[in-house]
Amino acid sequence: MNIILEDEAASVRIVPAGDPLNESTEHAGSMTIPTVQKTTRTAVAARDITKTYGRDDTKVAALNNVTVAFRPGDFTAIMGPSGSGKSTLMHCLAGLDTVDSGQVAIDSTIITGMSDHELTILRRTHVGFIFQAFNLVPTLNARDNIVLPLELAGTKVDDAWFDHIVETLGLTDRLAHKPHELSGGQQQRVAVARALLTRPAVVFADEPTGALDSTTGAEVLELLATSAREMGQTIIMVTHDPHAASYADRVVLLKDGAIVGQLENPTADSVLNALAGLGE
Ligand code: ADP
Ligand code: MG
Repeated sequence: MNIILEDEAASVRIVPAGDPLNESTEHAGSMTIPTVQKTTRTAVAARDITKTYGRDDTKVAALNNVTVAFRPGDFTAIMGPSGSGKSTLMHCLAGLDTVDSGQVAIDSTIITGMSDHELTILRRTHVGFIFQAFNLVPTLNARDNIVLPLELAGTKVDDAWFDHIVETLGLTDRLAHKPHELSGGQQQRVAVARALLTRPAVVFADEPTGALDSTTGAEVLELLATSAREMGQTIIMVTHDPHAASYADRVVLLKDGAIVGQLENPTADSVLNALAGLGE
């Protein structure tokens, strides 16, 4: 019952020549910790999902039969005009909101129809979140913020993995600092570390650079791209910013609650052109 969608949903994706699903990442040699092998598993998939708000006259179809799949280790940006359904899609994919019809799966488990309690447990163990506003606990230092999701899940911290992430993110000498003692960029790096530490099936990032200056934002985006490339981390990022989207492997374009296109290996210019084509 829980073996799902993947084949169908994955086939929606246009796979470029030289199937990247069957290649290991190229940077394995530089890593102290083995990289995650990309597989044909689907990290996140949605089939025919619909979400409608309001009723009768005020009815809005926020998502209209959306089918999409995200492969392990891919960094995908979701873009589209304001009101196109980006936030709704992210919330439905992350199990933060329910769909009216269709199915969502995270790491091959169908989450549609799960109870709130089951969803909470699944999110703790399979999903990482990075928000525009960092969402760190102000009374906890950086280290305690980073390990909080594992503590909530009652899981032991993998010290080698913790050290690796903290080092990669340049946080080693900031671990004893509380959020207010850190810059915005450092706080977002703590949030990135927190999201990565559980080795989630997917990290959802909602405008992760929205509160950062462009230099700091670029650093955070580079770190997200690196965690996809070198740690095999699946990332789904909602953004308004074509430059931010250019760090992703793929851009999925939404309009009026439907997927209207996608770009592989996006550049800021190709994203701008695609958005212009949507009338934004
Ligand atoms: P985006 O993130 O792309 O700006 P959203 O997913 O927030 O778009 O919204 C998609 C559509 O659904 C919009 O028309 C929005 O007004 C509507 N919508 C979103 N959330 C709600 C809600 N809680 N109640 C009513 N309408 C909503
Ligand atoms: Mg939104």
